Amino acid sequence: TELAPTSVFETVESEVRSYCRAWPVVFERASGSRLYDEQGRPYLDFFAGAGSLNYGHNNPVLKRALLDYLADDGVTHGLDMSTTAKRDFLEAFRSAVLEPRALPYKVMFPGPTGTNAVEAALKLARKVTGRETVVSFTNAFHGMSLGSLAVTGNSAKRAGAGVTLPNATRMPFDHYFDGQVPDFLWFERLLEDPGSGLDHPAAVIVETVQGEGGINVARAEWLRALADLCRRHDMLLIVDDVQMGCGRTGDFFSFEEAGITPDIVTLSKSISGYGLPMALCLFRPELDLWEPGEHNGTFRGNNPAFVTATAALDAYWRDDALRERTLGRAGRVERALLDLRGDDGRSGLAVRGRGLVWGLEFADGERAEAVCRRAFETGLLLETSGPHGEVVKLLPPLTATDDELDEGLGILARSVRHTA
Ligand code: PMP
Repeated sequence: TELAPTSVFETVESEVRSYCRAWPVVFERASGSRLYDEQGRPYLDFFAGAGSLNYGHNNPVLKRALLDYLADDGVTHGLDMSTTAKRDFLEAFRSAVLEPRALPYKVMFPGPTGTNAVEAALKLARKVTGRETVVSFTNAFHGMSLGSLAVTGNSAKRAGAGVTLPNATRMPFDHYFDGQVPDFLWFERLLEDPGSGLDHPAAVIVETVQGEGGINVARAEWLRALADLCRRHDMLLIVDDVQMGCGRTGDFFSFEEAGITPDIVTLSKSISGYGLPMALCLFRPELDLWEPGEHNGTFRGNNPAFVTATAALDAYWRDDALRERTLGRAGRVERALLDLRGDDGRSGLAVRGRGLVWGLEFADGERAEAVCRRAFETGLLLETSGPHGEVVKLLPPLTATDDELDEGLGILARSVRHTA
């Protein structure tokens, strides 16, 4: 199949920095689990707007809510003012998400992106504790601003940025040493030893499943041990649920399975459910030491995003149907990936995941990239992650049908065979 012409983007390449080189077509429409290029060619989307479209493209329920809101001249700006759209969202978030889980959080709108939520979390933790150091993990990804980069593991992402937050230190993520080193004992010793030179940290920031870092899945008992470490040593626990929240792992929050209650939680990506920028920083009420004006910005209260977010909560989080559907399909995806691993001539493939986020780790980034390229040529969008781009990441919309899941897994299997 011939690819669509991309001449406009090619000719301006020298003048424009544009993100998407992996998929050299011009997309025009999107619906459910598919994107369409301007030639009308469909692509099954197992990238889902980098995890921002858990309910699929132009989800009809969310679209109806947005169209009705716009038809009534609803407020469209993004200031953090009091609006009916915001009130409705806060009420839905409280009754559909926080109350049923007995989570005590206060809700803050930190700005439009996941990075903004992480920045707010870091600032709040430092302010509340009066300490500066933040601990994060090997292969973590938390954003591209100077603060969030400082707690990002992959040093290539920091290249050229110079000094970020100086007070950041790293711990090995779960499985880093394959169980050969006790998880937190060494860190605890450093905390307790006045000679270690370690400033007592304000907080630890963690993803329960590292998305950009290669779909590294933390065990529930490891997360519980981490929460316990934080409690015993008076460090705030921040869970960055920007990518794994909003049902990606099955539960609304990815940390629910471990039974932990972080002090601070970041959410973004799929919270609006429509690909509209929106983020939340949640924190225990007693941490609310923000002064007016200490964390403001023009786009902190995206009203159209509140409207679609409310519709998504009403449609998908008033009962357990989506959660159960996601958890039920995890096994289906895992089995298909394990079969694929068995079939692969070069083997050595690792399969990791939870809910509807899965990673297939190849020996190197070239092979993973070749698989993604072949998948794209045959109608499936996939992205790589991991420190060397060696992990093919599957992030289908949670609303994908079983047929769509099977179709995507079939294209993936053929792409793996094609590149063997
Ligand atoms: N935290 C995590 C865990 C992420 O996956 C991302 C984005 N990939 C971010 C933060 C940053 O979010 P954004 O790109 O919206 O700034």
